[in-house]
Amino acid sequence: MPKKKEEAICPKPDDCVDSKDMPSLMEMAKNLASDGSKIVSNALKGNQTLASDAVREYRWSVCQTCPMLENNRCVKCGCFMKVKVAFSSSACPMDKWN
Ligand code: SF4
Repeated sequence: MPKKKEEAICPKPDDCVDSKDMPSLMEMAKNLASDGSKIVSNALKGNQTLASDAVREYRWSVCQTCPMLENNRCVKCGCFMKVKVAFSSSACPMDKWN
């Protein structure tokens, strides 16, 4: 029997963010391209690409108290926040940190 679409995407629904709450795939692709472009641009300019431990920890602490965080992903941008907070050029889509 073929799997339902949701089962194919998320075999353990309790561990996954409800896809209807996330930005569209196109929006997430744009966000990823934009973030990737900033990281590369920073690197080409010789700037620090990774955030310091203190900055990373601060950002993550803010995200952990934010209602937009679902299973370590930001519902606003669709990013995996443990990864996003590590890059110096990253910014919160709601301006809670930059
Ligand atoms: S990036 Fe901003 S909006 Fe998203 S979870 Fe973190 S603090 Fe909330």
